Amino acid sequence: MARMNIVFIASEAAPLAKTGGLADVAGALPMALSRLGHKVSVILPYYRKQVGASGVRVHPLDESVTIWVDGVNRIAPLHIVSLDGVDFILVEQDDMFDRDGIYGPAGGAWEDNFPRFLFFSRAALEASCLLDKPVDIIHCHDWQTGFIPLLLKTQYQHQPRIASAKTVFTIHNLAYQGCFPSYWLHRLGLPADYYHTGCYEFYSQINCMKAGIVEADHITTVSKTYAEEILTPEYGCNLQGILGEHAGKLSGIVNGLDIENWDPATDSAIAANFTAGKMQGKAACRASLQEAAGLATGTDAPLLTMISRLAEQKGVDLLLDCIPQWLQDGYQLAILGSGDPAWEAMLHRLAAERPEQMYFFSGFDETLARKIYAGGDIFLMPSRFEPCGLGQLMAMRYGNIPVVRATGGLKDTVTDYAQDKPNATGFAFEEANPAAFRAAVSAAVEVWRKPASWKRIVSNAVRRDSSWDASASTYLELYTSLKD
Ligand code: ADP
Repeated sequence: MARMNIVFIASEAAPLAKTGGLADVAGALPMALSRLGHKVSVILPYYRKQVGASGVRVHPLDESVTIWVDGVNRIAPLHIVSLDGVDFILVEQDDMFDRDGIYGPAGGAWEDNFPRFLFFSRAALEASCLLDKPVDIIHCHDWQTGFIPLLLKTQYQHQPRIASAKTVFTIHNLAYQGCFPSYWLHRLGLPADYYHTGCYEFYSQINCMKAGIVEADHITTVSKTYAEEILTPEYGCNLQGILGEHAGKLSGIVNGLDIENWDPATDSAIAANFTAGKMQGKAACRASLQEAAGLATGTDAPLLTMISRLAEQKGVDLLLDCIPQWLQDGYQLAILGSGDPAWEAMLHRLAAERPEQMYFFSGFDETLARKIYAGGDIFLMPSRFEPCGLGQLMAMRYGNIPVVRATGGLKDTVTDYAQDKPNATGFAFEEANPAAFRAAVSAAVEVWRKPASWKRIVSNAVRRDSSWDASASTYLELYTSLKD
């Protein structure tokens, strides 16, 4: 296969800036593609605070791009970070991107997100024009980059570096669509005749996600099951109609994990390292987590864990409904999450009532996340919907057995004990209600109390191949088919 020149354009990418799974994908998939012999550049905004906190060294490039926004020409200097063969190109514009939050203040959205990400989309296309070789594929991610395929078709056809590039648009979460009032149409700087229901008009608003769906050469989403679910009214977030019209160019490719970065054998953030063949270190991680979290040690209680955005999608209401019973049953809980302040307050209150049994840390803390993945017995993911989910992949790799709702990528990546005992890597439940969730956790705890059976599940989970290898090859097949 000829060496491809692939450009990823995304609003976040690990390890530089991360709020969720999108960053994990935009960081790790390019590295997997690069290992397969292709040239990959990732373009993202230069979030000075977050990139600075990540500790990577950023180098200024001798180049900048000039973008017209709201009647003003803005000059954006470019910077570069090279990691594992991948160039991360950062677009500087401090008044837009040097802020405390990537998308908004805690739990909210910045009011200028539309011009911010429109500016970024144009700047990313301009930056792509400066690459050494013609670009084969422009791979865009989520609503922040939704207008790129249309911009490419309408305003960048005279640019030899990118004019013949094919576009792939990946939906990481259909629930976040980037909808903005139609009186901002002039800010787009596009011919008005694209504003109709067959394109990006959506209930009299501008819908950035819809623009990507309609105009990209191919759409992917991050699991096969989610690709089917989003065609239904239950999961389609009112875009099931337009997705149905474009279903011929829609496919699901499951996410992998950066297995070098997320490896209990080498992770320096955890109390002791372990592997599938030598699991002793896991007990030390468990004890260390209990101690750090102020939980009682030496009890025979299972340690339930969760690491999540505190949003309705994640089934936080189901969790809150179940916690009192679990505390009464003597279970322990260690939860890390941030998001809705009301839910944070409820979790703080529950933890304060029984500090020896329940720990809650509100905030985003990757080191703590690693300790929780490594120390927990059971990992909770009662999501109402889950495009792919990375938490369950990390949990399995660290021998923390997931209890998940059978939806989207959770259904595709966790082998349910009730369906396939010998190969089980977790437990799944169907209905999004507290009784079903509680029953699944009870089933998991029952097996946890039988060490031989549990050991088998843990071994299956830790050994599971969650690497990017298979999915990166599938993306390459897709890119190749688009270029043919
Ligand atoms: P989503 O992208 O919908 O938030 P995913 O499961 O796909 O959910 O990815 C979540 C990612 O963010 C995982 O890498 C998880 O470990 C991480 N994460 C979520 N919440 C926190 C937190 N409070 N602190 C640290 N990491 C977190």
